[in-house]
Amino acid sequence: MVEHPTPRLGSDSVFENIPLVSPSTTPNGSIPSTPLGIPVNVQDLPNDKREQLPDVLPIVECLARARIPTTKGVEIFLHLYKNNIDNKEHLAIVFGEKIRSKTLFRKRHGESQSDRMTRGAYVGKLRPGRNIADKDEITGEELKFDDEGYAIYQLSEEDEATLVRIHSECYTGETAWSARCDCGEQFDEAGRLMGKDGKGCIVYLRQEGRGIGLGEKLKAYNLQDLGHDTVQANLLLRHPADGRSFSLATAILIDLGLTNIKLLTNNPDKIVAVEGKERQVKVIERVPMVPLAWGKSGENGIHSSEIDGYLRTKIERMGHLLQKPINI
Ligand SMILES: [Zn+2]
Repeated sequence: MVEHPTPRLGSDSVFENIPLVSPSTTPNGSIPSTPLGIPVNVQDLPNDKREQLPDVLPIVECLARARIPTTKGVEIFLHLYKNNIDNKEHLAIVFGEKIRSKTLFRKRHGESQSDRMTRGAYVGKLRPGRNIADKDEITGEELKFDDEGYAIYQLSEEDEATLVRIHSECYTGETAWSARCDCGEQFDEAGRLMGKDGKGCIVYLRQEGRGIGLGEKLKAYNLQDLGHDTVQANLLLRHPADGRSFSLATAILIDLGLTNIKLLTNNPDKIVAVEGKERQVKVIERVPMVPLAWGKSGENGIHSSEIDGYLRTKIERMGHLLQKPINI
């Protein structure tokens, strides 16, 4: 286990001890290997940002879970959440059957075994004719419950940090093939790494356009075409440079039992935001996300003048920890 020393009060050394070096993603071949994690020491985090986090986490409840076979060959379990602060359907894309939601598996008053299977609160595999959710007759897996109806189970790798990505919805980058940002590429890359690991979780938050919504994001794109960078464009529209909140992600990770994590990110502020005010979640390692266009298999990455400006702004104005290549 990594030791977490007490934060140095008054320290202005943000990440000074963490090398700003992104590991090579492609030693030989065209498919990048898993990048190395960089240990995170709490005293090196921008802890002044922690004070601004909400005192109380949102309340989340997982309503349904389903197995999704994917075109990439791996299976995922998609978890859908409701919460007490907005009406959006936030999601957790879970790799590995053993990562389970406390609120989903909790017994609900008056529900049948069939109801539980329909919600996705079952162990093992669903198959035609199965009629018990809490026990898989073929694999022998069986759930036990405590007095409050919570399932008791042991995550065998409980002490091993799980790979996590917190991803904010980006319609343009994920669906409309936009080369203005690298959201689609980062999403795909996170999924690839977790599929390879056989374990991981992408928390998918519905906060489009760094929290300003799709309509305002489109206006920001026009301002960018008029010569402003992504930060200036948001400010001209009277929005914060980054209006996202990650407290829902913290609450969802806790619900999934993922409190020791390896976070895929280049953004030091996000580490603090996901950990929460009381460090209810601990980021043990930061795993960099290196743009594919910067690797040796660069032909797989995004090439556009817009993406160069977008990445430059992230590095120079938003404090992202990426070593930029000479030509950007
Ligand atoms: Zn995007």
